[in-house]
Amino acid sequence: MLGAAAAAAALVALGRSSAKRSESWHNNNKAQHKERLQKIKKKYSKRFNDEEVEILKNIKKKISDKNSKISCIKCPECGNEFRLIYINEIELDVCVRCVSFWFDNGELKKFSGLASDIPSRELTSRKSKYKCPICKVDMVEHVFTKPHNLLVDHCKEHGVYLENKELDRVIEIS
Ligand SMILES: [Zn+2]
Ligand SMILES: [Zn+2]
Repeated sequence: MLGAAAAAAALVALGRSSAKRSESWHNNNKAQHKERLQKIKKKYSKRFNDEEVEILKNIKKKISDKNSKISCIKCPECGNEFRLIYINEIELDVCVRCVSFWFDNGELKKFSGLASDIPSRELTSRKSKYKCPICKVDMVEHVFTKPHNLLVDHCKEHGVYLENKELDRVIEIS
């Protein structure tokens, strides 16, 4: 039978080894995250010129500017007016509060360089929690592309809504 002291020592050793394991797991994750960000950055600079990359990088600052143009449509998430920015001849509606994006029909395709706004429209879809900012009808939540589990909100008539960070995912996939 194991003495109490030996059992305690074994427990301490166990604790140490799992702490070690979680540390290396954490470092691994951090490295993967860094790699992913670099990949996204590279993709942005391939698709857009330096000025546009700068705007996209500092999007929150850019749209918080008092002089930024106010859009005629409102964010489906918070109800704030979208602000307009221009990237690659696309007029983008951006929400200052949510840092989310609205793309009119055809714009996301142009932005991402993919064949269509939502490449996997035939895949699983369900009712979105958001209404289209233009026609106010419930949007449909679509899987963006297989096998990535990115879901985007879409109005067939008007366009695509991307929540915060989803634009990076689109660029990563495209
Ligand atoms: Zn919003
Ligand atoms: Zn609509």
